[in-house]
Amino acid sequence: MNEKTMNTHCIVIHGGAGTIIKSLMTAEMETAYRAGLKAALDQSEEILRKGGCALDAVEAAVTVMENNPLFNAGRGSVFTHEGKNEMDASIMCGQSLKAGAVSGLSHVKNPVQLAREVMEYSEHVFLCGKGAEEFAISRKLAMEPESYFFTQPRYDQLMQIRDSGKTQMDHSAPVEKPPSKKIGTVGAVALDRMGNLAAATSTGGMTNKMFGRVGDTPIIGAGTYANNNSCAVSCTGHGEFFIRAVVAHDVSCLMEYGKYTLADACQEVVNKKLLSMGGEGGLIALDRKGNVSMVFNSEGMYRGRKESGKESEVFIYKD
Ligand code: ASP
Repeated sequence: MNEKTMNTHCIVIHGGAGTIIKSLMTAEMETAYRAGLKAALDQSEEILRKGGCALDAVEAAVTVMENNPLFNAGRGSVFTHEGKNEMDASIMCGQSLKAGAVSGLSHVKNPVQLAREVMEYSEHVFLCGKGAEEFAISRKLAMEPESYFFTQPRYDQLMQIRDSGKTQMDHSAPVEKPPSKKIGTVGAVALDRMGNLAAATSTGGMTNKMFGRVGDTPIIGAGTYANNNSCAVSCTGHGEFFIRAVVAHDVSCLMEYGKYTLADACQEVVNKKLLSMGGEGGLIALDRKGNVSMVFNSEGMYRGRKESGKESEVFIYKD
């Protein structure tokens, strides 16, 4: 790293992509989303400002959003067809290429913290279901009863589409429904003062998903990827497409092997490859020079960034 890049830090977050339209948003809801994003940025940026590592920062940012019922992760997770919450999360270190992932959780308060524990304290990368929850208990993580994850708007959202045979992306409820019923997967990417990158993503998945369905969020290379040789990426969108397009790793490979810039790599994958497959969503990405991309092919994406020495910025709509 050269002098200029050292001592620079940056955190970028998202709170999900989908049909987010300004004319359907109330002032109160917009204020609440903006405050939720800002709280996650402020808490995680403080870690970086004090010299903390990128992994700690992405874990903190995602934890704040998992605890906020506005977002489709942790507490505000959407419901499966059976009316349950099944949460997925992952985290990756760009320096070591170590990663941790979890899926099918119903009681772990902060799935991203369990993903970190899997990465740090197990021999494995990916734990699912009962085994993952037993590991969480053995690591003394906070557990909650199923009722903790019940939120009425998310349940109403399931009731509206349960018998349609379709799944629904968190923010892509039919447009006539108020945006309070649209909530979002969360993710973060960070660059610390040592020049290391990290990424983390957490979700309740898609409303009305089949029991046992796993999306892109916990799949390293699909929903989450970090590599100091290229970039850190966290995705949100229709997970099946993100898995098939291997989105996060594709962005990284275009940079590492194809010598694309971060911006070009993100455009190529989100607005060409994914679009041509019919995959809706977006991603946030960050490289070691502090370049940031927040790209989506949907109506909107809750997102924000905070760089060293600058105020936090949050955005919702296309412009
Ligand atoms: N990607 C998530 C999933 O498919 C959903 C989302 O990002 O809204 O599980």
